[in-house]
Amino acid sequence: MSEKTFGIIKPDAVGKGYTGEILSMIEKNGFRIAGLKKVRLSKEKAEGFYFVHRERPFFNSLTDFMSEGPIVVMVLEKENAIADWRKLMGATNPADADEGTIRKTFAENIERNAVHGSDSPESAGIEIPYFFNQLELV
Ligand code: UDP
Ligand code: MG
Repeated sequence: MSEKTFGIIKPDAVGKGYTGEILSMIEKNGFRIAGLKKVRLSKEKAEGFYFVHRERPFFNSLTDFMSEGPIVVMVLEKENAIADWRKLMGATNPADADEGTIRKTFAENIERNAVHGSDSPESAGIEIPYFFNQLELV
């Protein structure tokens, strides 16, 4: 049975022109792109998205980064999409990420790490409607 997850191409990767290469890796790895758009987060919208991390020391810097420029938000669909997208992304810190992962290939550091992915069905269920309405998922 197919599953949906939520992903972001973050401002570092969009700014450096990696959007096309990342979308290509996503499609080559068997994901169907059910929703896709380019948006710019306000600081407030970035804070809302990362609300679970509000007590972490990196929260202010992270939300500055996520609102510094455009991002590409996506809904990705395949069997086991949540776990498989996390695997294709690679570890949070690109220094620890496996060869061939998006973060190993494109990320600058633990904060500017190219992509986001939902970590559970619960997160996907909150993150998808944070950006997409039903008409935008096809
Ligand atoms: N982050 C950071 N410093 C850290 C850990 C995380 O700047 O020490 C940033 C990084 O951009 C990461 C995001 O905060 O992607 C959310 O952290 P999380 O632990 O949820 O990592 P992810 O699920 O994105 O791998
Ligand atoms: Mg996370």
